[in-house]
Amino acid sequence: MDIIRSAPALATHINALKDAGKALGLVPTMGALHAGHLSLVAQAKKAADAVGVTIFVNPTQFGPNEDFSRYPRTEKEDIAALEKAGVDFVYIPDVASVYPEGAHVTLKAGEMADVLCGAHRPGHFDGVVTVVHRLLTQTKVDVAVFGEKDFQQLFLIRKMVEREKLPVKILGAPIRRESDGLAMSSRNRYLSISERKTAPLLFHTLKASAAKIKKGDKVEVVLKEARAALTKAGFLVDYIELRDSDTLHLLAKKNAAARLFIAAKLGSTRLIDNLALNAA
Ligand code: AMP
Repeated sequence: MDIIRSAPALATHINALKDAGKALGLVPTMGALHAGHLSLVAQAKKAADAVGVTIFVNPTQFGPNEDFSRYPRTEKEDIAALEKAGVDFVYIPDVASVYPEGAHVTLKAGEMADVLCGAHRPGHFDGVVTVVHRLLTQTKVDVAVFGEKDFQQLFLIRKMVEREKLPVKILGAPIRRESDGLAMSSRNRYLSISERKTAPLLFHTLKASAAKIKKGDKVEVVLKEARAALTKAGFLVDYIELRDSDTLHLLAKKNAAARLFIAAKLGSTRLIDNLALNAA
């Protein structure tokens, strides 16, 4: 596995793979890798001949009061895990390799970037689409895999790729969970022992709410009850909403594409999750 740290070294590596006629796949990450990330790698390997992973904690997607400086950085362990997973290259650029003109947002994420997480993290998705556009352009991959854990991110990346006419296929991967239901996340390591015990309630509430809506209970009532139960358990709920998976439009009633979305803070840790009604 090649470990690449600069844009010119990346270009040389990519050109060699392209010259060899390989179809290339990419899994962009911020590191602190877990089994969720590795499931994306496995999916990318099925879709491409050679797979790269990027590890880059992107400054432009963090707000001024967010966790950029304390975001977990576990490069040595990440490299070992990717080597074991059979990745062809890992790209760990410095900020100047991604942002030669300075770390500024240069793309707008567009419609639906200011709902759900976007409403609570202003500018976040502009930073996400900016960095993903740069990583896709630099790596020239044929396919890239993103997790449904960050469903709104996946949605907005697909829109950006369409708008910018990038020659890459975007694949979505299902959410990987711990055995107690908690969606895997690099941020789970922030949780204290007692918070970690409470955290799976987020998914269990999502699942119970989805089942109630599915059997015909009123959406507004179900979501109000869910919010109250989570608040009582110590969560600070940012949102719990029913939306259409295909458009992200808010739904007052279920439809075939209905999906529940949730974000809540437990102590200082912000957790997100989502669940399609037809999967509940
Ligand atoms: P991150 O390192 O948090 O930026 O995540 C990198 C990629 O891994 C994104 O496409 C995420 O959606 C995906 N991802 C993170 N957690 C999970 C999970 N539990 N299951 C599936 N994909 C995930």
